[in-house]
Amino acid sequence: RTVMVVFTRDLRVRDNPALATACRVADRVVPLFVADPAIEAPPGRARFLLDALTDLRASLRDLGGDLLVRRGDPAEVIARTAREAGASQVAMAEDVSAYARRRQRRVGEVAELRLFPGVTVLPAGAVRPAGGDHYKVFTPYWRSWSASPWRKPEEVPARVVLPEGWRGDDPRAVLGEAPPAPVTGGESAGLARLEDWAPRAGDYAGLHDALAEDGTSRLSPYLRFGCVSPLELATDPRVPEAFVRQLCWRDFYHQLLAAFPRLGTENFRPGAREDWADDPEGLAAWKAGETGVALVDAGMRQLLAEGWMHNRARMVTASHLTKTLGVDWREGAAWFARHLLDADVANNCGNWQWTAGTGTDARPHRRFNPERQRERFDPERVYVDRWRA
Ligand code: FAD
Repeated sequence: RTVMVVFTRDLRVRDNPALATACRVADRVVPLFVADPAIEAPPGRARFLLDALTDLRASLRDLGGDLLVRRGDPAEVIARTAREAGASQVAMAEDVSAYARRRQRRVGEVAELRLFPGVTVLPAGAVRPAGGDHYKVFTPYWRSWSASPWRKPEEVPARVVLPEGWRGDDPRAVLGEAPPAPVTGGESAGLARLEDWAPRAGDYAGLHDALAEDGTSRLSPYLRFGCVSPLELATDPRVPEAFVRQLCWRDFYHQLLAAFPRLGTENFRPGAREDWADDPEGLAAWKAGETGVALVDAGMRQLLAEGWMHNRARMVTASHLTKTLGVDWREGAAWFARHLLDADVANNCGNWQWTAGTGTDARPHRRFNPERQRERFDPERVYVDRWRA
């Protein structure tokens, strides 16, 4: 029996339920990645993805297998390749964006599709409020999420056996080269970053808001592409509860997106403001980090330089754009989506809507005062000086 494993946002061999199960139940396994021309990755993310695919291919080869890389419409490519390889089933990690769900539906129409967990700690919908289909408030979600049973992380398969005569592809030959990204993508690099940060993980609660410190994990791009398993991370004995709570925010926004597929395009909160300011100059200055507000500019310059921004700075820059300049959160979310290595619809738009007061924040009218935030979280001005023009 042959099973095809289609990798999407689970570019890893550790704790990969789709891959692990396929290797358990099938004699032959065909690992496949499909580059979808409809998903335009900006340069930084394109390179991160290439690194991740190259690393994944090396890991699969170490296990005796390989990675096929194809370009085209996912449902068509999957159907064709499954037919050619004689695969009776397609295994994929379940994802919740509207686009991913449409893709899953289309693949299900042309192949026998089996969906697996792995993109979040708990699958969206695994915990539900009494009398409702999803949570709209974080704290009750966190309570039931922490109290509910979790699956055990999967072992790395002992062997990946391709069908006779099949071999993989160099991702660069299919996707083309991309300019270097500020950080190296892939499971190996993600695990190395975890090992680098883990000895300091115990200080997370005290350090995660300190703008100048390297106090957070910086694993977000690796989580975005599934190079590290969120479940393995949440069950790592070295990480404190304060950190697990952040992973829960990630799950929270994924279950919100699953229940409200328009999270990326429409206000979540009924009655939230729609009257946004038309301020092209203010928006351009915000994008360039030239507003004259020290912390806002520092954050925006860190984004352009590193493809990443400290969470505290993300809140302050987003609050400045939406609450002070009154510009539509969708403008800000689109800019972040273009430049963040970790950008995904659930986290990006969930957080933008939270900050803009159109989302799940119970205090939708709060505004972050950038100077007060700087005094509290960058009292020595180390962060704002680091990112000065
Ligand atoms: P850590 O502090 O080490 O946290 C560990 C992990 O928990 C993160 O990697 C991330 O996966 C998750 N996490 C932490 N905070 C949040 C949060 N508020 N919401 C959801 N998940 C969280 N995060 C993204 O992954 N992608 C985005 O596109 C994104 N856009 C954002 C936009 C705005 C306006 C704001 C305010 C926040 C956004 N965040 C986003 C959340 C957060 O800023 C980043 O996840 C975090 O800064 C990543 O750095 P880290 O890996 O060092 O985080």
